Amino acid sequence: MTRSFYADPALNRMDPEEIRRHQESKLPAQLKYCYEHSEFYRQKFDDAGAKPEDIRTLEDLRKLPVFMVKDDERRSAELSLEKYGHPFGLHLCAPVEDIYLTGTTSGTTGMPTFSYTFTKKDMEFLAPRIAARMALAGVGKGDRVAFFFALGIYATTMTLWGLRRLGALPIDIDARAGTELFLKFIGLTRPTYIACTPSLAEYLIIKAPLVTGKEVGDFGLKGILTTGEIGIALPGIKKKIESAYGCRSYDYWAPCGNAPGISCDSDEYHGLHAIAPDLCTSYDDLVDPVTKEPVDSDSDGAVGEMVHTNLQREACPAVKYAYGDIVRITTKECPGCGFRGKRAKLVGRADDMLIVKGVNVYPAAIRDVVAGFVPDVTGELRIVLESPPPRVVPPLKLKIAHGAHVSEADLPGLSSRIAQALHDAIKIRPEIRLVGPEDLPKETRKTPVFEKIYEE
Ligand SMILES: [Zn+2]
Repeated sequence: MTRSFYADPALNRMDPEEIRRHQESKLPAQLKYCYEHSEFYRQKFDDAGAKPEDIRTLEDLRKLPVFMVKDDERRSAELSLEKYGHPFGLHLCAPVEDIYLTGTTSGTTGMPTFSYTFTKKDMEFLAPRIAARMALAGVGKGDRVAFFFALGIYATTMTLWGLRRLGALPIDIDARAGTELFLKFIGLTRPTYIACTPSLAEYLIIKAPLVTGKEVGDFGLKGILTTGEIGIALPGIKKKIESAYGCRSYDYWAPCGNAPGISCDSDEYHGLHAIAPDLCTSYDDLVDPVTKEPVDSDSDGAVGEMVHTNLQREACPAVKYAYGDIVRITTKECPGCGFRGKRAKLVGRADDMLIVKGVNVYPAAIRDVVAGFVPDVTGELRIVLESPPPRVVPPLKLKIAHGAHVSEADLPGLSSRIAQALHDAIKIRPEIRLVGPEDLPKETRKTPVFEKIYEE
């Protein structure tokens, strides 16, 4: 391997099999530590009839049941608040006074959880891995990276540590301040990168000329870092963003500080590259999102919900934490950059998944097919739900915004072509209602995918 993808130079010299052995060498001590330092995990191991010392390989780990989903984490946080007066959960393994950095999820649904909670040692381990990830997007000394997310505490907690290590300057602007202020700060601080949701990157293409009189291409960016949505994984969106801004867009993520990944410098999207296998086994442990039974995570094309288990973490290590992200794994060497580790494409969220006639349907897959019809459609759509998901009584109802140039007479033809394409790709026969180009507004944060009429 000629390029260095991993923060630890030793990993750069290992083949995938050696990396797996390296992961397995770290696993037992982490699990034993969690068992000894957290009543939550002790209970989980005991309930499963397993002892941490029995888990020596990734295969052993995969056989363990899922210990935690999002609601368990919330409950664990509530209990620790009641019992110990802190919100870090009964799965906190380090003394509470050793917490060095914390960050929360957005808390848009239910109680926010402090999933990004680290000791100093955790950050010292994590920061170079975050740095290595951002270096793959070309970020280096002197770069200024403007973040624009709701709740800066979330967006920058870990990431700024990595950026500072590279000598780059993070500039954090709270998305609630609005896009006009963000554009003003771009003018003032002249970032070389911006980090935001792909929806926002798209929105700024229209908004920037109206507010500043300049096109986004005039920002002079070296790159766009997107996260939080399946965006640039869709070829149409990647192309649209890159040609408008005149630079490469990169997808990055690290849900709960795990599974750090980034897409590479290629015209085609090749998925999130698993650049820190020494941090967690997230790319190697997938389960069925409904039954939580293991799926074969090492086969090329495997689809499942990612289960996080840390290998070296002190504060709040994840052990068998199914956070809800459903991915498709690629095991082949990346044709774009030569990376030999695993790569993942986000397919959807477990809580977004629908079941139509026994078939698992992911909104992202629908978006993907519909995006193929741009410019006859704008790419915006909503899935209309008449009852709570995941089960949908067929037909699945879709609202899709048609393109501005499409005439009334062409709508039925367009509708049936989209329906056919959806049937070919994902075996559903939806009921499609085409609406005007502006009828489905794009949000600057996360654009909703469902229209839940049962809540109205
Ligand atoms: Zn690549």
